[in-house]
Amino acid sequence: MTVPANPYRHHTHRLDLEDPSIREWAATVLLADPDQGIVLDRSAFYPGGGGQPPDQGVLLWGNVRTRIVGTRKGDDLYLLPAEGDPLPPAGTSVYGGLDNERRTSLMRTHSGLHVLSAIVLRDFGAPVTGGNMEPLIARMDFDLPDVPADFKQRVEHACNEVVQLNRQIDVRVLPREEALAIPNVIRTASDLLPPDVEMVRIVDINGIDIQADGGTHVASTAMIGRIAVTKMESKGRGFRRLRIRIQTAE
Ligand SMILES: [Zn+2]
Repeated sequence: MTVPANPYRHHTHRLDLEDPSIREWAATVLLADPDQGIVLDRSAFYPGGGGQPPDQGVLLWGNVRTRIVGTRKGDDLYLLPAEGDPLPPAGTSVYGGLDNERRTSLMRTHSGLHVLSAIVLRDFGAPVTGGNMEPLIARMDFDLPDVPADFKQRVEHACNEVVQLNRQIDVRVLPREEALAIPNVIRTASDLLPPDVEMVRIVDINGIDIQADGGTHVASTAMIGRIAVTKMESKGRGFRRLRIRIQTAE
């Protein structure tokens, strides 16, 4: 996914883009509206996008707990409370906390999909046409007219070679011109860069894959764990779907 360094210029400082390891932080409520949701001055909630689902978690204030079950993107990043949970009024100091297992699983899965897409392009020349992820489970679609023998096994083997190499995963924010000079940096049609975007966030799996992306990733490929390619489906002419499961590293 392609996003500017901070698409929410009005209010929320995006801690998730700065440091994907943050799970707890202090913040102040800027707005709390029963219809719109809650806006914080600082938030580590990934709002969803680029195939990565939004985070869930809590806001703690005094003895009160407000569960956050999703987000809504409008002119700002709105956090959506669980039905019936109280809203902290504007001005309240809160502690934010993410559902760590969900977020960490999504980071491993997202980085795993980047490895998968890079391997299938590198070894089989097939570009990505779509995808979807849930914590530790994902699918990715490719344009691959002819399926070679042992395709699934070869993809799985090559992906886990990258995991074992433990390549570093770096995130950089580059000026638009510099980012677009990187070959194949915009990966799918849905990632097309809006004309007003001046800075582009780049996720670089060193020596393996480099692409414009707004998601949260693990710091190196060993942190993904084992990538199991569980199924290949043919959905039409040249349309191949690979399903993966992220497992605990051996
Ligand atoms: Zn991505």
